[in-house]
Amino acid sequence: MASIVLKNLVKKYADGYPAVNDVSIDIEDGEFVILVGPSGCGKSTLLRMIVGLEDITEGDLIIDGQRVNDIAPRERDLAMVFQNYALYPHLSVFENIAFPLRLQKGRFSKKEITDKVNVVSEMLELNEHLKRKPGNLSGGQRQRVAMGRAIVREAKAFLFDEPLSNLDAKLRGQMRTQISQLQRRLGTTSVYVTHDQVEAMTLGDRVAVLKKGELQQIASPRELYEQP
Ligand code: ADP
Ligand code: ADP
Repeated sequence: MASIVLKNLVKKYADGYPAVNDVSIDIEDGEFVILVGPSGCGKSTLLRMIVGLEDITEGDLIIDGQRVNDIAPRERDLAMVFQNYALYPHLSVFENIAFPLRLQKGRFSKKEITDKVNVVSEMLELNEHLKRKPGNLSGGQRQRVAMGRAIVREAKAFLFDEPLSNLDAKLRGQMRTQISQLQRRLGTTSVYVTHDQVEAMTLGDRVAVLKKGELQQIASPRELYEQP
């Protein structure tokens, strides 16, 4: 688990226009923060800066007290869950979830990997599907595999990029509950990008509202909801 501090973060793409403009947020250890705002407001850019997929133009990103602007994504030890799942189609569910553990060559024994994958599959109700390939799974099952892969290595934080937007309304509701329960159970610091108001209001401890690259406000869902 980790605290994540964004200090006056700026991102300018090649055209020089700031996609993220002077954003500061203190995310506490174990906190669940939602980033919301209209399309193009800079949500994904901000998330990608945190995980290390975009360079930071100005400002500081501090994870657990360490400035990580120049630290490679893998060494930041954060787990990202993408909207399009990004599963490996030729690997079984088991192997998809085990993948991040196998990447850390020699760190885990075969038994440790099996045990960890089984614990995660149990949590996500995937244990009956371990031998199947992603192509034969439903959207909700695929998204659960993607989450399994994110949580199996006990990263410092989870970063979610609109993970439910490809699911139908009913599944979105189920997955919302599941993500919420999982985050509370694991207590892992999470940053979650969405443009869905219901997700914003039900999932997070705090909601950060972005507009044109700037942080408009950050408050608990209750505080936001009670505003006139
Ligand atoms: P959101 O996730 O809120 O929809 P983005 O972070 O994707 O917003 O985009 C923020 C702004 O940055 C938009 O104006 C978008 O056009 C621009 N942008 C995003 N990615 C790039 C890129 N790779 N090159 C140039 N501009 C980009
Ligand atoms: P089997 O090969 O018949 O699945 P194992 O003893 O190798 O039997 O595996 C026992 C359990 O470990 C399985 O039920 C499953 O949960 C997990 N497991 C290990 N490796 C795999 C794999 N490659 N694919 C699916 N499940 C696996």
